[in-house]
Amino acid sequence: MPRTKTDQELIDADRDLYSGLIRLHVMHHASEEPIFGLGMMEELGRHGYRISPGSLYPLLHGLEKKGYLTSREKRNGKSLRKEYRATPLGRKALKAARSKVLELLRELIEGE
Ligand SMILES: [Zn+2]
Repeated sequence: MPRTKTDQELIDADRDLYSGLIRLHVMHHASEEPIFGLGMMEELGRHGYRISPGSLYPLLHGLEKKGYLTSREKRNGKSLRKEYRATPLGRKALKAARSKVLELLRELIEGE
């Protein structure tokens, strides 16, 4: 008998569902201006995505490892923070994703 999903399982499923959107969101902002972890968490929160530092930082590192983001340490008062920008490869990937997002959006809206 299939058991009902727990709230935690639903939240985890949401995370899977939205992880690509969150990545695209991060890439979009990183292509416009340098971003840093805490600021990006606030920005994503503004859009209704709750993401912890424990999820966001590995995501940023992953995008950097892929060559989509580049980072450098920047002094902020007494502390150092890591600043990320989109690389030319990251911009190219974002541009390719844009048409896919538009296509999906069209289907989602037509389906209503
Ligand atoms: Zn945004």
